[in-house]
Amino acid sequence: TKYILVCGGVISGIGKGVIASSTGLLLKTAGLKVTAIKIDPYMNIDAGTMAPTEHGEVYVLNDGGEADLDLGNYERYLDVTLSRDNNITTGKIYSHVIEKERRGDYLGKTVQVIPHLTNAVQDWIERVAAVPVDETGEKPDVCIIELGGTVGDIESAPFIEAMRQFQFRVGHDNMALIYVSLIPVVAGEQKTKPTQAGVRDLRGLGLLPDLIACRCDNPLLRATMDKISMFCHVKPEQVMGVHNVSSTYHVPLLMREQGLISFLTKRLNLGEIDVGQRGI
Ligand code: ADP
Repeated sequence: TKYILVCGGVISGIGKGVIASSTGLLLKTAGLKVTAIKIDPYMNIDAGTMAPTEHGEVYVLNDGGEADLDLGNYERYLDVTLSRDNNITTGKIYSHVIEKERRGDYLGKTVQVIPHLTNAVQDWIERVAAVPVDETGEKPDVCIIELGGTVGDIESAPFIEAMRQFQFRVGHDNMALIYVSLIPVVAGEQKTKPTQAGVRDLRGLGLLPDLIACRCDNPLLRATMDKISMFCHVKPEQVMGVHNVSSTYHVPLLMREQGLISFLTKRLNLGEIDVGQRGI
């Protein structure tokens, strides 16, 4: 399985969910079978106990799992059926580890965030990524992992560390990272400083961006792209602009025009996956 981690910085609500779903959709159009996992770094077991005024509408999955609306986006964009296990929360993962501890599974060891919780996150992702989610009943080729919140938060730290370790567990060719950032416009100028600081934080935590998706009001200027490339130490083709569009269903087109499919195909050796009759 190939994994694509989508995480973000600066502020939340900049379109990580839409970019993650769009990435999945584009890979699906290339003939790949795609599944998705959403990580929510809150202590609730699921979104079912959260007021809709606080968290937005709760999305109910086929198995009764109550989740964030992002899971609904995945089901619609990817035409798949997900389950409650496709949503990992801090509450769920701690409860899973504590249950194992009570059962004596850790054989007298001191149970810690690293390695026990971080291992549990990785095991969970590997297990769920292999579950068939469409009518073919086959194992998915690609799993999109969206990490909610922003990189650098205390809440998301154990998940970031789990993903740092995961790169080594699955190997460089099997995992790519899309970092979603915000480009504010101040006095008519597209500002890259928050992105620079965010990418620095990310690198400090041991994760390297393969693509930097820049959310901005207007199309990203060439000069802004070059600046991000220069200061964030990535090639210009690794910088992708995602400006405001009238419908979020335009986002996949925007990303396709900028070569997302060919970039990921090269980066993750997707060509080696036999898509058989599924390719278009
Ligand atoms: P996050 O996952 O970062 O919290 P979401 O993907 O849920 O963010 O998006 C937040 C809001 O912004 C949603 O209402 C979504 O429809 C909107 N949105 C995302 N990307 C775009 C875009 N490129 N143009 C216009 N609206 C967008």
